[in-house]
Amino acid sequence: MPSAPATLNDLNARIIVCERCPRLRAYCAEVARVRRRQYIDQEYWGRPVPSFGDPKARVLILGLAPGAHGSNRTGRPFTGDGSGNFLYPVLYEAGFASQPSAVPRNDGMKLTDIYITAVARCAPPANKPTPEELRNCAPWLDEELRLLRNLRVVVCLGKIAFDGLLAHAQRTGQLQSRSGFVFSHGAEYTLPSGLRILASYHPSLQNTNTGKLTRPMFLAIFLRARQLADLGHP
Ligand code: SF4
Repeated sequence: MPSAPATLNDLNARIIVCERCPRLRAYCAEVARVRRRQYIDQEYWGRPVPSFGDPKARVLILGLAPGAHGSNRTGRPFTGDGSGNFLYPVLYEAGFASQPSAVPRNDGMKLTDIYITAVARCAPPANKPTPEELRNCAPWLDEELRLLRNLRVVVCLGKIAFDGLLAHAQRTGQLQSRSGFVFSHGAEYTLPSGLRILASYHPSLQNTNTGKLTRPMFLAIFLRARQLADLGHP
């Protein structure tokens, strides 16, 4: 067994060469080979997408999975697709991001007090990782949460991310039962460790184009996340 990674950078170096899910690896490579017509002159990342942000973050964003033509193309979470176009302006307004737009990964974006990861790090067909693929990817999240030593709040984007965090809490013995934890937009919970959970709808185009998730609703989530981080442990 390799030793546990000592830093988030070490962890990311392992993640980007992960091959645990043959279906996802084949899909990402194929999307990167074929490409979408509008990006035909670009070289796709096509590998597992490493996490991104401030290693000293008190707030973690836990997303679902890379978009096939978003971060599977650019190599950075939420960069270069509709979800990111909705997320980064809100992070900027809430004071977590240095700039409001994120198109390529080398745009100089700096995140402060926030870190972005996902329960699956390879783009899945139809945005749906299987339960087995989520289980395969879970150890990476466990390592990340161990290495984010200042963490106080996890913003879970969507129910799959919410369930992924609860599964982590059970795996690591922090939680015996998930009863009482119900996903809804704006729901807040506190794990026995003191870690706060803040649930939000995912900023998918399906949610943002229909008005299910509006920009003021999403901004309120991140302003609340900062407030909870400032409050510290209850
Ligand atoms: S989804 Fe996670 S576990 Fe599966 S291949 Fe990608 S990085 Fe590895």
